[in-house]
Amino acid sequence: MHEPKTTRARVEKTLQGQSFDFKCTACGNCCKGPGDVYFTEDDLKAIKDYLKLSAFAFARLKRKLIQEKIPGYYVHRSGDACLLLVDNKCSVYPVRPMQCSTFPFWPSNFQSQANFRQLKKECPGTMSGKGKPLEAETVTRRVRKTEKEFLEPQQNTDKPIML
Ligand code: SF4
Ligand code: SF4
Repeated sequence: MHEPKTTRARVEKTLQGQSFDFKCTACGNCCKGPGDVYFTEDDLKAIKDYLKLSAFAFARLKRKLIQEKIPGYYVHRSGDACLLLVDNKCSVYPVRPMQCSTFPFWPSNFQSQANFRQLKKECPGTMSGKGKPLEAETVTRRVRKTEKEFLEPQQNTDKPIML
C-alpha cells in the first residue's frame, strides 16, 4: 500500500474522519525515558533565564543535561526520566523546548494508524474526549508547524532527526 505523500493526506488517513482531541493530564509519561530530548541554543538560554541561573550554575546544568551536540541541537539522552522532570512535573514548563511544546503534534504520531494507536496507549490525554475536538485541517497545520520548525535548522544535515 502506498504511503500518502502530503502531511494533510497522512493526517486524514490516520484520523479516518474522526476529530482529534487532546488535553494533557500531566501524567508525565512523555517525559520518561529512555529517549532523547533536543534543545536548541535558544531553548537552553530560555531555561537559564527562567531558572535565573548564574553562568556557573548554567554550565553545571548543561554538563549534566547534554550528552551530545549535533547540528542545530543539544541532545539530552535520558536513560530514565528527563533530568528536568521534578516531582513528576516539568520544572521548566513555560519554557520547555520545542520538541516538548509541540507534542503530540509530531509528524510521526500521524504517520500511520499503528503510530497513532501507540500514541493513544502512551498518552492518556489523547482522544480522551476531554479536549477540544480538532479537525484534520487544524491538526495538519500544527503538524506542519513542527515539521517546519524542527526540520529547518537541520537543512544541511546528512541525517536529520524528525519527531
Ligand atoms: S503523556 Fe500525554 S497526558 Fe501525559 S504528560 Fe505527556 S502529553 Fe500530558
Ligand atoms: S523538558 Fe520538561 S517537558 Fe520536556 S521532557 Fe523534560 S521534563 Fe518533559
